[in-house]
Amino acid sequence: MSDSQRRAVRAGDPLLEVSGLCVDYGLGPDAVHAVIDADLVLHSGEVLGLAGESGSGKSTLAYAITRLLRAPGLIVGGNVDYHHSPDRVIDLLAADEPVLRVLRWSQISVVMQSAMNALNPVLSIKSQLTDVLHAHLPAMSKAGRQARAAELLAMVGISADRLGSYPHELSGGMRQRVMIAMALALEPQIVIMDEPTTALDVVTQREILEELMQLRARLEFAVLFITHDLSLLAEIADSIAVMYAGRLVERAGAGALFRAPRHPYSLGLLTSFPPLHGPRQPLSGIPGSPPDLRQPPPGCAFHPRCRFVMDRCRTDVPPLLPLREGRSAACWLQDGAAVVPPELSVPVPARIEAAPSPGAGPGNPPAAGPAGSTTASAAPAASGITGTARTAGSTP
Ligand code: SF4
Repeated sequence: MSDSQRRAVRAGDPLLEVSGLCVDYGLGPDAVHAVIDADLVLHSGEVLGLAGESGSGKSTLAYAITRLLRAPGLIVGGNVDYHHSPDRVIDLLAADEPVLRVLRWSQISVVMQSAMNALNPVLSIKSQLTDVLHAHLPAMSKAGRQARAAELLAMVGISADRLGSYPHELSGGMRQRVMIAMALALEPQIVIMDEPTTALDVVTQREILEELMQLRARLEFAVLFITHDLSLLAEIADSIAVMYAGRLVERAGAGALFRAPRHPYSLGLLTSFPPLHGPRQPLSGIPGSPPDLRQPPPGCAFHPRCRFVMDRCRTDVPPLLPLREGRSAACWLQDGAAVVPPELSVPVPARIEAAPSPGAGPGNPPAAGPAGSTTASAAPAASGITGTARTAGSTP
């Protein structure tokens, strides 16, 4: 996409719309429902965090969106619309392979979870970077490809003299930076990051995330950031979607979610790591383990672990209920009939501070108080990581 076309999708406009997406592993009665009826919107220039425990369906959702799902994964329903420009919407689930080949990398790229596994161990970094350019920009000269490869490495803070290195000669942080450089090689509109810093120490994580947010501000791409580490999203995300057992259970602006969660699972995640300031508070965490998706519990899948469980939770699946200020939660406590416990109706003391985010918008509304009044609103625009310390190694 040329720069003029890129500007045609205005910041804040929908870029990727996922509706009713369902993904199974296997067929028939033994199929495991890994993603169930997922609705998401990623806006241009937004960082959307997708959080949840391992096995909640986050990566499956991302790979289904990009049609990179491997067998026995099967998309069994839904729509994924990519807004290529204001006049052109591409249905990614209906797109044929040639269309997908053009879109992947140039429009939507993915940073895989493990850089060591994602990079080819027997090819130099230069070969791997120039290969991308050769495949997608065949008119580019060999010298041009090499110059661009050096530029990409420099962009992620690696000296060009490492171009000849092989993956095993680089540190874990450098390998992950190379992956980010490769993902940005064609300046895509959307970058999907699947736990890109999970295997790294927290200092390297911070460095990489800072660089990433600087690149995001400069190149204006949108990010779908997948992680099990909710505290990390406090620093980078504009809005957050929380997944549990294949379903999206809460969606809200990052500031709103951190200060006033509306789903017991989100509250449990937030109370699973210690506050960074203020008085000491007991860690309550979440009892039990995520369900076996081959035999999910009836009703709300979270009910065996939920301290607010009611009778109907054991039989009826709660839909994602729209709440005030553009947020939503899949919990019977929020349907207007139940008495909502204080923890889920008033702002809770933030255990970690959400980073200043790009202001209230479709994906980032201000937090709502008990009567839906605006309370701790998201701060004005900023794209960098704040000086807020994060909980080292915190894993909800
Ligand atoms: Fe808990 Fe019931 Fe809400 Fe599920 S629907 S999260 S069990 S209160």
